[in-house]
Amino acid sequence: MNQRVWTGEVGARLRCCICGDETVDADDYVLIQMTASPGDEAQWFGAHAAHLNSVLKEGFRVEIHEW
Ligand SMILES: [Zn+2]
Repeated sequence: MNQRVWTGEVGARLRCCICGDETVDADDYVLIQMTASPGDEAQWFGAHAAHLNSVLKEGFRVEIHEW
């Protein structure tokens, strides 16, 4: 499976919600789901893992693993 075309639950890659750049060629693209209870609605965010890590609380870290 080519990770460069992976889009998860969303039909296309989303721009990075941290830097705003395209993620089409990003090797560290991640898709983030936000939900609010009660209800089934979901909001999706795309991000570069490196940029996401730069804003995560200490002790939280996103890593990309090859399948
Ligand atoms: Zn970014």
